[in-house]
Amino acid sequence: MAEKLPKKDVVIVGVGWAGGIIASELTKKGYDVIGLERGKDRDMADYLHGHDELRYSTRKEMMQDLSKDTVTFRNHTKMTALPMRQYGAFYPGDGVGGAGAHWNGQTYRFGPYDFEIRSMTIERYGEGKIPKDMPIQDWGITYDELQPYFEKFEAMAGIGGQEDEGPMAPPRRAVFDKNGEKKKYPVGPMKVSPMMKMFMDATTELGYHPYIVPTANLTEPYTNEDGVSRAACQYCAFCEHYGCEYGAKADPVVTVLPVAKQTGKFTVRPHSTVIKVLHTDGKASGVVFRDTITGEEYIQEADVVVLTSYVFNNVRLLLNSKLGKPYNPETQTGVVGKNYCYQVQQSGASLFFEDKEFNSYAGAGALGAVIDDFNCDNFDHSDVDFLHGGALRVMQTGKRPIATNPVPPIEGLPGWGKEWKAATLKWYHRNISIGGQGASLPNRYNYLDLDPTYTDEYGMPLIRMTFNYHDQDKKLSKYLAEKAEEIGKKMNATYIKVNGLELGDFNIANYQSTHNTGGVIMGNDPETSAVNSYLQMWDADNVFVVGASAFPHNSGYNPTATVGALAYRAAEGIEKFIKEGGSLV
Ligand SMILES: Cc1cc2nc3c(=O)[nH]c(=O)nc-3n(C[C@H](O)[C@H](O)[C@H](O)COP(=O)(O)OP(=O)(O)OC[C@H]3O[C@@H](n4cnc5c(N)ncnc54)[C@H](O)[C@@H]3O)c2cc1C
Ligand code: SF4
Repeated sequence: MAEKLPKKDVVIVGVGWAGGIIASELTKKGYDVIGLERGKDRDMADYLHGHDELRYSTRKEMMQDLSKDTVTFRNHTKMTALPMRQYGAFYPGDGVGGAGAHWNGQTYRFGPYDFEIRSMTIERYGEGKIPKDMPIQDWGITYDELQPYFEKFEAMAGIGGQEDEGPMAPPRRAVFDKNGEKKKYPVGPMKVSPMMKMFMDATTELGYHPYIVPTANLTEPYTNEDGVSRAACQYCAFCEHYGCEYGAKADPVVTVLPVAKQTGKFTVRPHSTVIKVLHTDGKASGVVFRDTITGEEYIQEADVVVLTSYVFNNVRLLLNSKLGKPYNPETQTGVVGKNYCYQVQQSGASLFFEDKEFNSYAGAGALGAVIDDFNCDNFDHSDVDFLHGGALRVMQTGKRPIATNPVPPIEGLPGWGKEWKAATLKWYHRNISIGGQGASLPNRYNYLDLDPTYTDEYGMPLIRMTFNYHDQDKKLSKYLAEKAEEIGKKMNATYIKVNGLELGDFNIANYQSTHNTGGVIMGNDPETSAVNSYLQMWDADNVFVVGASAFPHNSGYNPTATVGALAYRAAEGIEKFIKEGGSLV
C-alpha cells in the first residue's frame, strides 16, 4: 500500500526550467510547494572540474538513464516501434535542473507569426496554402500578450543581446533598467569572434540582416531582482552537455531554485519518479510516485498538480493516468499526443578555409551570429511550397576532439587511416558550419501515444513516437541548404559541403537537437487543444501541464525562452486558480 504524505498546496512533477520557475514564483507568494524529481539533486558543487568530454559528452552523465525509461520510435503507423536504447536525436535531462543544467543558452523568443500562424497564413496567402494534413493552429495567446512573460524570464536569467538586431528578429521593448537607461536586453551581447564577423559581413553584403545570438551565457556580472548574483562567462566552451562551474550560464540550479529554497516553502524530493496523476470527475487529488532508491510507493496529495516533466513524460503521465482524451490520427479527434513536432536541423553547409584558422576550442554555448531572413513569415512564401522557415547561423560552441573531426569533401580522401588523420589535424581549426534550424509544422500522422509492448522499470507503458519528415520539411530543408551554400560562397570558403539538400526519413540515431515539442498543446478550443493559454487543462482545472509540450508547432528558434515565458504565465494562472478556482479563460 502506498504511504500518504502530508498534503501540499502544489505538487510539481519534474524540476527543470519549467518546474523551477513555477516553484520559485509560487513559494515567493507563500504557497507550500513540493517538487518531485526522478533524478538526483544538484547544486553548483556538482559542476566543478567538469571539463571531461568522455564523461559528459560521450557517456552523457547528466542525462536520462535510458535503461530505466526511454521512448519507442517508428516512422509511420505501419511500423513496429522500437525503444531508443542509446542516445540519438535528442538528450532528455534528468536530475534537478533538468536539461537546463546542460543546455547551451541560446535564448531566442519565438516570433509573432508563430503564435498566430494559422490566422496570419490565411490572411496573407488564403486557406488553400495550408496542406490538408497539416493541423497548424493559433496558440490562444499572441506575441504581444506573451511579451511581459518573456521579459520576466529574461530579467531573471540575465539574457544578453544586441540592442539593434534589425528588422527580422522578433520585436522587443526597451524595458530593462541599466545605469538609468531603458534597454531591450538586461545585459549586452556576446563578443563577436572572427568566424561570426565573416558570417555577418557576408550576409550583410548579400542584403540579409545578421545579429548576435541572444544568450544565457552571462556577458557581464549581473544581479537579478531576486538578488541572485552571477559571474560573467569565461568563453571556456563547456556549456553544451556540462554544468557551468562559474555559474555564468543561467540554469535553474543557479537562478530560480535557490530562490525557492530560501523561502522555506519549497521541498525538492529527488529520486522520486511520478507514475500517475490521481483524479476523479475532472479534479486531481495528487500523484503517485516511487522512491527510486527504496522502491517504496507514495501518494503526494495537493490542491494543484503541475506537470513539468518535459514533452514525453507530460504526455505519458496523462495517458497512463487516463486524463484527457487521447489523440487518434485516423479520426483526428482527441488531443493528448497531438501535434508532436521536432525540427529540421540537417540543412546547412560545412565550410573549409585553406587560408584561415579559427580557435575552435574557445567559445560558449550561445556564441554565434544568425539571420532570420528565411525564418517565420519574414519572406514571401507565395512561390515556395512550404510554410514558415528557419534560422541560419554560425555557432562557436566549442569543438571537442572525440566528437568532431571534420574533413573537407576532397575527392579520394579516405574516411579512415593515416591520410584521414593528417587531414583532420590540418582542417580541425579551418572549419566553420552554417547550420539551419528549420521550423517543424505538425502533420496529422506525427504524434505520441502509449507503446503497446514496451514498459519502463515499473511496468508503465513507454511513450511511443510516430514521426517522419513530410513534403513540407523536405522542401524547407532544401531551401535552407541552398541559402547556406550561397552564404558559404560569399564567405570565400575553399571547400563547401552542403547538407540537407535531400532530406530522407527522420532518423532517430543521429543527434539533432533536444527541441521536441507538442503533445499537450495550448489553444482556445477544448476540441483541438489540451490546455488553455495559462497551461491549465480543459479536462481538469487543477492540473497545469507546462513546457514545450504546449507548443502547437515548433519554430525556427530554440525553444527555452518560450518555455520560460509560458512557465511564468502558468505560475500567474496557478495563483489565480488557487484564489478564485474554475477555468481561467
Ligand atoms: C544538450 C542540450 C542543449 C540545449 N541547448 C539549448 C539552447 O541553446 N537553447 C534552448 O532554447 N534550448 C536548448 N536546449 C533545450 C532545453 O534544455 C530545454 O528546452 C529545457 O531545458 C526544457 O525545460 P523543461 O523544464 O521543460 O524540461 P526538462 O529540463 O527536461 O525538465 C524536466 C524534468 O522532469 C524530470 N522528470 C521527467 N519525468 C519525471 C517523472 N515521471 N517524475 C519525476 N520527474 C520527472 C526530468 O528528470 C527533468 O529533470 C538544449 C537541450 C540539450 C539537451
Ligand atoms: S562558456 Fe561561459 S557560460 Fe558556458 S560553461 Fe564556460 S563560462 Fe560557463
